[in-house]
Amino acid sequence: MKITKVCCQGCGADLQVDETVRYVTCNYCHARLEVVHDPSVTHTRLMEKLEKSTERMADNLRVIELQNDLARMDREWEQRRENFMVTGKHGHRSLPTTAGSAVGGLFAAVFGVIWIGAAGSMGAPAPFVLFGVVFVGFAIFSAVNGASKANAHQSADALHQRQRAEIIRKIEAARRE
Ligand SMILES: [Zn+2]
Repeated sequence: MKITKVCCQGCGADLQVDETVRYVTCNYCHARLEVVHDPSVTHTRLMEKLEKSTERMADNLRVIELQNDLARMDREWEQRRENFMVTGKHGHRSLPTTAGSAVGGLFAAVFGVIWIGAAGSMGAPAPFVLFGVVFVGFAIFSAVNGASKANAHQSADALHQRQRAEIIRKIEAARRE
C-alpha cells in the first residue's frame, strides 16, 4: 500500500490517499473526489462535475436515440404510404385525393354511359353494350376505392405528423436539460 498526497479540489486541503483508491471523500469539506493518476502527478477531480458531464452525455445519447426513432418512423411511413397509393393511367403510383377520385370516376362513368347509348342506338351487338356497363361499374369502383384510400391516407398522415411532433418535442426537451 502506497500513500500519496493529493489536494482536494473542493477546499484545497491536503489529503493522503491509498494509490489504489479511485474515489475518496474529503475529510474536511466532504466533497466526493475522483483520484486521477496522471503520469506526472496524482490529483483529484470533484465528483459532482464528473456526474454532471456523465449526465450530459446521457442526455446526448437520449437525443441521438430520439433522432434515430424519428428517422425510423419516417422510413416506415414512406413504406406504409405505398399502401395508400393507386396506380395511375400511365402506370405510375400516386396518392389519391378525394376530389381527384370523384372527378376521375365521374368522367369515366359519363364515358361509359355515352358508350352504352351509342352502342345501343347503333344496334351494336350485346358484348359492346355490356362493355359499357362493365366500364361504368369499374369507374364507380375506382372512384370509391380512391376516395377511401385518400381518407385512410389522410388520417394515417395526421397520426404520423402527431407522432413526429411528439418526438421532436421530446428531443427539444432533452436538449434543454
Ligand atoms: Zn475538501
